[in-house]
Order: sequence, then C-alpha cells, then structure tokens
Amino acid sequence: MTRAYDVLKIVRDVYGSHGPLPLHAPVFAGNEMAYVQSTIESTFVSSVGAYVDRFEQMLAELTGAAYVIATTNGTTALHMALLLADVAPGELVVTQSLSFVATANAVVHAGALPAFVDVETTTLGMSPDALSEFLQQHCERTDGGVRHRESGRRVAACLPMHSFGLPCRIDEIADVCARWGLALVEDAAEALGSRRDTRHCGTTGKLGTLSFNGNKLCTTGGGGAIMTNDPVIARRAKHLTTTAKVPHRWRFEHDAIGYNFRLPNLNAALGCAQLEQIDAFLTFKRALAERYRQAFEIADIPFVAEPPHTHANYWLCAILLGSEAERDLCLEVTNDAGVMTRPIWDPMHTLPMFAQNPRGPLPVTERMAARLVNIPSGVRIEEPA
Ligand SMILES: *Cc1c(COP(=O)(O)O)cnc(C)c1O
Repeated sequence: MTRAYDVLKIVRDVYGSHGPLPLHAPVFAGNEMAYVQSTIESTFVSSVGAYVDRFEQMLAELTGAAYVIATTNGTTALHMALLLADVAPGELVVTQSLSFVATANAVVHAGALPAFVDVETTTLGMSPDALSEFLQQHCERTDGGVRHRESGRRVAACLPMHSFGLPCRIDEIADVCARWGLALVEDAAEALGSRRDTRHCGTTGKLGTLSFNGNKLCTTGGGGAIMTNDPVIARRAKHLTTTAKVPHRWRFEHDAIGYNFRLPNLNAALGCAQLEQIDAFLTFKRALAERYRQAFEIADIPFVAEPPHTHANYWLCAILLGSEAERDLCLEVTNDAGVMTRPIWDPMHTLPMFAQNPRGPLPVTERMAARLVNIPSGVRIEEPA
C-alpha cells in the first residue's frame, strides 16, 4: 500500500515541483496571441480565412497525409470520417471498448452501432487478434459484405484508437480489414506526433482523425481534423463539412445535406502557433516519459512505455497499479496532495447506453480499467527566476 506514496514522490521528483500539478495543461509560449489578434484585426474570425488553410497545410507536412480537412472538433471529424467510409444507418462498426466516449458516440452520430473488441496490454489499442476472432466467431461473408450473424447487420468499418498516443498495431489491423473487406478508420485524436516505424498514426487507414481539444498535445481551443490520402474523399470531406455549398460568387446552392463542421479561422490561428512549437513539446514529453520510466522501474511499478518500432508522443503517461484497491489509494493520495491523476475511462461496454451492444471477450480492457492511472504529463516551461 506504500506504493501510492511512491507514485506521489516520483511525480514530484520528476517535475521538480512541490506545487499543484495538473494532468495536462496547455502551454501558450509562442505566437498564439499575435495570430489570434491578427484574425480579429482582419475580421476573418469565422469559417473563411488564411489560418485554416495554413493549419491544414502544417498538419499535412507533419503527418505525411496527402489531404487534411480541419473540423470543429475531434468528434465531428470522426463522425464525418465514418460517413465518408460509407458507414450507413443500422450498420455495425467494430471498435475498442477501452476509449474515450467520443469514439463510440461518433459511430452512433453516423447512424451505426459500435461493437466492442479487446485491447492489448502493450499498446492499449485494439488487438488485431481480438478483431479477427470477433469476425470469425460472430460474422460471415455474404454477397452484400460482412454480416453480423446475431443481429443481421452489415459490418461496415473498423475503428481502432491510438490510446494516450501509443501507436496500436495498425498494420496487423489493416491486414484483418483487408481480408474481410472492412473500411479502416483510425481515431488518432490522442496521437499527434506519434509514429509506427515512419508512418504517422491515422494515415494507414482510409481515413484518420485528430483532436485539438484543450487537453490534447496541441490545442485550437476546440478543433479536429480529418486525414486521408484519397483525393476524392478529401474533396467530399471539404464539401460536406462546409454545408455542401456549390462554389459560386453569390448563389446559395447546396447539393447535399451538409454539415457545419468547418474549423473557425480564430481557432486555426491558435493551432498554427501551437504547431510551430510541436517539436519542443514532443522533446519535453519524451524526456519526461524517460525519466518516469527509469524512476518507476526502480520502484517496481510498471510504466506504460512505447511499444517496439514506435515513436510515441506520450500525450498522457500511464502506470499500472497492482489492484483496484491500490489504484484507488493512489488516486486519493495524489489528488489530495494536489497532484492530478486520473483512472482510465470507464470501458464503453459498462456504460448504460452501450451495455447491450455486440462485443467479444474483454479481459484486458477490464484489467486495465481497474488498474491504470494517468499521471501528470503536461509540458512545463520554466518560470523566469
Ligand atoms: C479527445 C478525443 C476525441 C475527440 O474529442 P473532441 O473533444 O471532440 O475534440 C476522440 N477520441 C478520443 C479517443 C479522444 O481522446
């Protein structure tokens, strides 16, 4: 039971701070004020403006995605990505139970139903074996695509998530999707700057999405982005997220039910200033994670380190306690002392609105949900003396 106090001491030592420590606070140390002010001075604060284009361009360069479409948040990015992957009302999307609720919510926003499979201990992301097993045990190939036997629903897509910025085994997941003919959409909301080998998270599947919420690595206040290498999908993404308006100098012609999902220029201005600092953010966070890793190794507390062949952004660092009771004591001791720690999300299959959804066995999800704790992981810029 003393390990709860070890955690508190290690976090304080690693940050070199006796004051309160947030889980992940944004840092505005660059051109944020100047860029935001310039949008106000230009009056282009809304859905048209140079910063939106620049933000998309910077993201394309950073991630290697051929096309990036900025959106109002990560949830709307996912919603749109699923529609663009041809997910239709009443269909199933296979995702992981261990995720932030937005992943499963977006599936429902797209009219579909999430089915849950297990994650792996090493990546905390979707297990390709659990995905394959779910498809083999519960689904069959038909002329109209893959069908879930018990419900008769078509399985439209697979939606893995790169938990805490740790890249999941996306190549193996893509292989399973290719064998079954499922569209692959990646929730890379937490994984800006994370790579497996040289490939950025969210750029393997047909579509991938990012989030720029205030607690993410880089923030636009609220914001998101869709990534794709397909020019036809990219054009459709831009069209549908901007009310499906047919370009014309003055006419209001719309040729589909569109969405108002375009990121405002005001938010994009903040995002451009944040992306200019991403290398410094990543350097800080990777060094922090390495210091945590060494300290927790000495204390014999498992630290969730990046899997082999990956380069993680360490958005949120995580440790694994020995039991649910030890996890709870750790949360109490640290939060009482002003060091903000959090348990992982309640798994989706335990929430009332998803309790009846189709699912495979979830032993790793349940073990992680009971024992994992996120520890302070934010970038700290030294206060001038
Ligand atoms: C943050 C996040 C999102 C998107 O959240 P928004 O607040 O809508 O930007 C989606 N999925 C995961 C896993 C997330 O962590």
